[in-house]
Amino acid sequence: MQYEFKNKKITVMGLGLFGGGVGVAQFFAKQGACVTVTDLRNAAELSSSIKQLEGLPISYKLGGHFEEDFINADVVVVNPAVPKNSKFIQIAQNNHVRIDTEMNIFFKLCPAPIIGITGSNGKSTTTTLTGKILEETKRKTWIGGNIGKSLLRDLEEMKPADIVALELSSFQLEELNKTGKSPHISIVTNISPNHLDRHADMDEYIQAKKTIILHQGSGDYAILNYDDPELRRWEKDCKGRVLWYSANHTLPNGVFIKRNNIVIAVDGQNTTIPCVSRIKIPGIHNLQNVLAASCAAYLGGAREQHIEKAITTFSGLAHRLEFVREVNGVRYYNDSKATTPESSIAAVTAFQAQVILIAGGYDKGSNFSEFAGKCAQHTRAVILIGKTAGKIKELILEKKGSTETPSIFMLKTFEEAFRQANSLAKAGDVVLLSPACASYDMFLNYEERGRQFKDMIQAL
Ligand code: ADP
Repeated sequence: MQYEFKNKKITVMGLGLFGGGVGVAQFFAKQGACVTVTDLRNAAELSSSIKQLEGLPISYKLGGHFEEDFINADVVVVNPAVPKNSKFIQIAQNNHVRIDTEMNIFFKLCPAPIIGITGSNGKSTTTTLTGKILEETKRKTWIGGNIGKSLLRDLEEMKPADIVALELSSFQLEELNKTGKSPHISIVTNISPNHLDRHADMDEYIQAKKTIILHQGSGDYAILNYDDPELRRWEKDCKGRVLWYSANHTLPNGVFIKRNNIVIAVDGQNTTIPCVSRIKIPGIHNLQNVLAASCAAYLGGAREQHIEKAITTFSGLAHRLEFVREVNGVRYYNDSKATTPESSIAAVTAFQAQVILIAGGYDKGSNFSEFAGKCAQHTRAVILIGKTAGKIKELILEKKGSTETPSIFMLKTFEEAFRQANSLAKAGDVVLLSPACASYDMFLNYEERGRQFKDMIQAL
C-alpha cells in the first residue's frame, strides 16, 4: 500500500541496535521517501543495523546529529531511547517539523486489530504466548514491538482480518498518548518500580503505562492482573470492558485456575482447559502470563484446542528462566533477562528444589529489600557479582539473622561465580542465574551474560 510519504524528507533520529530504527528506515525508504538516518554512534558501532539496510537509498549522518536534518525535514522519527530534552528535538519543534515515533506511526497505519501487552515484567513471554496461541488458529498473526521486531516493515502485507500481538514499553506508551490511541485488547501483567532512572517518578511511570487503556472505547477490552495491587485500582480508568485474571482467586468473570483447569469465563460462557500440570514454563508468574495470553487469544478467536496446544508446547524464551541442561542431577536455569528485583523474586520462588543463586550487577537504583528476604527464605547459597553485590549481601545478612542458610559469596568474575556455584551444587539442586540487576557493568547486555552462562554450562 502507498501512504503519504513519497518524496517526503524523513529524518530517522537514532538507528539503534534493537530493530526499531531499522524498521522505520526500511519502511520509509520503500515508500519512496528521502531518508536520512542520524545517530550519535558511529558506523562501526551500528554495523549490524546498517547491514540490514544495505541496498536501500538512505543517507547516513553518524557520530553526531546535524541541525540541518532537523530544520529541513518533513518528519523526524525519534527513537524511544532519545532523551526527551534533546536540543535537536527542540530545533525540529521550533521549525514546525512533525515529530513522530515508530510505534505511533504503526498505530496510525495498522489495518488490523492490535493486542497490546505491557507491564513491568512478563511482557515478552506474554506477547509471544499470545501470538503462538493465535498462530494455532487460521487467523494471520503478527508478533512484534518492543520484543525486538519492528512491525512497520510488515505493514504493507497486513490485512484488516489479521491480528497483531504487540509488546509495548513504558516509553513507547508515553509517546502513544499523543496519538489518543490505545490497543483494541490490552494486557497489563503487573506494575512495580522500573526504569526510574528515566521516568521522573513512579506516578509518571504508571501514567505512561496507563496509556494502554486510557483511549479505549466501549468495544475494547482491558485484561488486568487481579493479583497486582496497583492494577486493582485501574478499573475506574478503563473505558472498555475489564477482564481480570488471577492465579490465586476464583473470579466470576475473567480467567482463573480451578484444580488442573484454566477457566475462561467471558460473556456467561465458561471454557475449561485441563492442562495446568502440562505447562512447561515454571513458576506462578508464568502461570499468570499464560492466563493473560489465553484470555487475549480467546477474544481474538482462539478456542480450547488452540490454547491447549500452544501453552503445553511453549518452553519459554531464551534468557527467561530458560532450562539449559541437567548435569549429574543438577539442573541449570538461565534467567539473565531478570534485571529487576521483582523478576528475580519470581524466579527464586519458582522452584521446589534447593536453589543456588548467582545474582548482582549494574545498579539502576532498585530496592533489593524484598528480594533479599526471598533469597534468605528460598535459597541455599547466593553468589554475588557486580556493583550491587555488597548492598545485596548486607540485606540478606540482615534478613537471615542467625540461620545458617543461605551461605553468601562475593566474587570478582562471572567465571569464579560459576565455579563456586558448581562446587556447592548437589544432585537435585537448581543452579540459577537470575541477577535482579542489569548487566552493563560487566557485559554488553543481558543476552551476552546469558550466553556466557550457557557456554560455561555446556562446557561442563
Ligand atoms: P519483560 O519483557 O517484561 O522484560 P520477560 O517475559 O522478558 O519480561 O521476562 C523477564 C523476566 O521477568 C524473566 O526472566 C522472569 O524471571 C520474570 N518474569 C516473567 N514474567 C513475570 C511476571 N508475570 N511477573 C514477575 N516476573 C516475571
